[in-house]
Amino acid sequence: MQSKSGFYTTTYKIRLYTNHLNYIKNTEVIYNETIIKYYNLLFDNLKFLNLSNQNCLRELEKLTIKSKTGEKPKDYIEQDIPMYLRRAAINQAIGYVRSYQTALNNHLNEEKKTICTLNKAKIFHSPVVLYKGMYKDLYGDSITIKLFDGESWRWFPAKIKGRKINENAEILSPSIVVKKDLVMLHLPVKEEIEDVTPIKERMQQEHIRVCGISFSNTDSFAICVVLDENKNIIKAKFIKGGNEYRNATHTILAKIKKHKQDGQKFSQRDHKHYWEKLNNISDYYTHRVSKEIVDFCIKNQVDVISIADMEEDVSKHFGKKVGKYSPIYLRKRIISYLQYKAFKQGILMTKVRRNYTASKCYICRGELKRNGSKYTCENGHQGDYFFNSAMNIAIMCFKKFGK
Ligand SMILES: [Zn+2]
Repeated sequence: MQSKSGFYTTTYKIRLYTNHLNYIKNTEVIYNETIIKYYNLLFDNLKFLNLSNQNCLRELEKLTIKSKTGEKPKDYIEQDIPMYLRRAAINQAIGYVRSYQTALNNHLNEEKKTICTLNKAKIFHSPVVLYKGMYKDLYGDSITIKLFDGESWRWFPAKIKGRKINENAEILSPSIVVKKDLVMLHLPVKEEIEDVTPIKERMQQEHIRVCGISFSNTDSFAICVVLDENKNIIKAKFIKGGNEYRNATHTILAKIKKHKQDGQKFSQRDHKHYWEKLNNISDYYTHRVSKEIVDFCIKNQVDVISIADMEEDVSKHFGKKVGKYSPIYLRKRIISYLQYKAFKQGILMTKVRRNYTASKCYICRGELKRNGSKYTCENGHQGDYFFNSAMNIAIMCFKKFGK
């Protein structure tokens, strides 16, 4: 069977460093003023909504912009704004009016008798969307943006720092998101995915490889085992770092505890600092572990990843004895990162029922006795307890799809 390729769009959030925050704010003000003008104008011309967005934009421009011969149209809007910024604003306005109309229609259909409480917007605070023509020279560490400096529109270079952009990816219009003094560039990126064949179809292929993954609270965050269509083991891997993670977070948790015990005045800043650190550490391990699993799957030509369905509630299954910031607590986040990273590589994830995946021997289905990270089953099979789970999870995936 031939694999199908497809696309996936994701937004990269990149920090933007600039000495011209006020110019960015100017630009945002002008952008939003333009949105509201066209928003109101479109309400006076609702028939335009029957057109495609592109034609709707064209009609709105005809109403507001001087013709080639210099004639002012009926609703002429005096504006000093670059064409591409205006167009971004108009499209935004069209979007707002369309969603208002949809909400209004839903309301009218559902509750005809009640008074409509939907209000038209009076002001917008939208981040500036940059069409081509408003930005240029976008590289890994810099971008040049056209901004209003109070007198005129000029180009300003800025540094950016964040995730590396895949060279083959197509970049869609970025937007500038300002929160107080923090400026972020939101960059939608369209990437090609090698294989988007749905799981059901994929599992019917002649050659298929499934990676079963179990998660543990030991030094192994995850235990992966790859099976081929005959359920032969191709390769297994223990993704380590659990103890390292536990130690790193516990050091900080101990500091927090000590501060509190010492009765020191625990400033909000200290507090924030510690929790940020904990988050950063968790984030680092989540990325590292999910990446290691994906790399392992790519290397072993995995088509489908199988995990046990725990309804994402670790505390329910592992009890309160497992502290927060333990490896198993990252399970949920690792899975969500993993699903996304794997998907970009054309590897799909499926969940199987967790029943007995940990309590039965994968070879004979006999009851097993756990002894730390080892097990022995009633028929004498022995091995690693988590490896056994991973095997069951992989086998369950074949069963789920009738193989
Ligand atoms: Zn057995």
